[in-house]
Amino acid sequence: MIRRVRELAPGVHQLLGKPPHFVNAYLVGDVLVDAGTPASRRRILRDLSGHKVSAHLVTHAHPDHFGSSAAVCEELGVPLWTGAKDAEAIETATPVTGPGRIPKLMSKMPMPPAWQVGRGLAEGDEVAGFEVLDTPGHSPGHIALWRESDRVLLCGDVFIRLPKVREPWSFLTVDIAENRSSMRRLAELRPELALFGHGKPLRDPERLSRAVPSGS
Ligand SMILES: [Zn+2]
Repeated sequence: MIRRVRELAPGVHQLLGKPPHFVNAYLVGDVLVDAGTPASRRRILRDLSGHKVSAHLVTHAHPDHFGSSAAVCEELGVPLWTGAKDAEAIETATPVTGPGRIPKLMSKMPMPPAWQVGRGLAEGDEVAGFEVLDTPGHSPGHIALWRESDRVLLCGDVFIRLPKVREPWSFLTVDIAENRSSMRRLAELRPELALFGHGKPLRDPERLSRAVPSGS
């Protein structure tokens, strides 16, 4: 039996998801970061039992990150926070996707329930001892969390690790060039521990740099 909730750095827990590491959520202090797909609702609530949760933060308004947000906020009575520019997408349950045919098809898929955003986050805000970084591109309001004291980074989907560290799939990314700028910015932080929306934790400060597409 694998442990479903693991502490990776002081106060930073990973909710492993199912299959493990495929769609991650994290508990940072008392803030739940991301909430999987609509199907992960029960598992996330079960994983959180025994932990104090005061707020829920969504790194970006994609349905595999705020899928269970409405259920979690309702059940636990906590406010939902997200990047200011992604708030409307969550409040109206409207998908933010890249240009092209696949996103158009995806936009017809059922979306998670809408939920009121209590706080629109932006660069420099503080959440549970982490600094909010604006990292747009994958979505317009995508945010990352950075704690300089022990160099821990939660990068959302600016990078993914499935299994290689790489940029997210282009058909899911609203602005590929902008996301590459965000990749460069996060890579330059040289995080000791990088945590992804998709994939295993990474303890290699140089690896993100190598994943930034060259010539971008
Ligand atoms: Zn994702």
